[in-house]
Amino acid sequence: MAGASVKVAVRVRPFNTRETSRDAKCPNVMTVSLSQPEDEAFASQRQVYKDIGEEMLLHAFEGYNVCIFAYGQTGAGKSYTMMGRQEEGQEGIIPQCVLFSRLYYILVCTIFQVSYMEIYCERVRDLLNPKSKGTLRVREHPIMGPYVEDLSKLAVTGYNDIQDLMDCGNKARTVAATNMNETSSRSHAVFTIVFTQRRRDQLTSLDTEKVSKVSLVDLAGSERADSSGAKGMRLKEGANINKSLTTLGKVISALAEMQNSKKRRSDFIPYRDSVLTWLLKENLGGNSRTAMIAALSPADINYEETLSTLRYADRAK
Ligand code: ADP
Repeated sequence: MAGASVKVAVRVRPFNTRETSRDAKCPNVMTVSLSQPEDEAFASQRQVYKDIGEEMLLHAFEGYNVCIFAYGQTGAGKSYTMMGRQEEGQEGIIPQCVLFSRLYYILVCTIFQVSYMEIYCERVRDLLNPKSKGTLRVREHPIMGPYVEDLSKLAVTGYNDIQDLMDCGNKARTVAATNMNETSSRSHAVFTIVFTQRRRDQLTSLDTEKVSKVSLVDLAGSERADSSGAKGMRLKEGANINKSLTTLGKVISALAEMQNSKKRRSDFIPYRDSVLTWLLKENLGGNSRTAMIAALSPADINYEETLSTLRYADRAK
């Protein structure tokens, strides 16, 4: 992490039945040895949390804003990595972060709030309040930075509460998916945890407040970035996804460049070019730590997309 603005990890999922039935092979670019037993060749949910989630959460407890995002083509394992399944040992980074944060909250934190939103075609929807049909406005606070007006922020008291909320939010995504033909792979889902720590200075008796924000992002499928041949709504979707993902890449490169050249000016960083990067501004630049998980299919039939994901990951380093 030292010196690097983004910690990049690559996660390869096991072959799925479609790939096995098409007799797909593992291309040479993959560095994992698939001759190993599956549980050794592929990282478990616990391992991914230990390697990425825990470190990032510790940064948040220190007062940094943190962002973890999963990038890759649809079906590569982004949602599995971030949300996972509701089975023992199958929970993704988000529920594991929530569980760990809850322990921390009991010890130190005074307020622990969560929100969950979806960004689809540059519009924001509240996934914790799916009944609110409309899209929400993005505004900017002079100190706290960009935020979504009227987005539900729920104070967490118990782990089960939040598990129910996440399910509700995921269903809201899934409902839209069936209605709008797999919208979930075309939208970005952003789960945010905000910690507020209040302390009284023993000498001055003044109260100080430290706020840190953890944004956990399941990005839209990167294959949509190529909208060649698409028409109408598909074209618009593709263009919007393209805009968000390319802007995210540009923002990260610009931040890395700024860090490497020790420049202090951040006004050339194109946060405002997409709603996603605008909302993640405080989590990507400034007082923050970022991790990217590049999700990959192991099959040669996905070679082009895999290569494109690896290129994106390489630029983010
Ligand atoms: P994406 O969000 O990138 O579109 P998903 O996370 O939905 O992809 O993964 C597609 C399918 O593959 C799901 O059924 C998921 O449970 C499964 N899957 C993904 N990654 C893994 C993994 N590491 N181990 C086991 N199953 C996985």
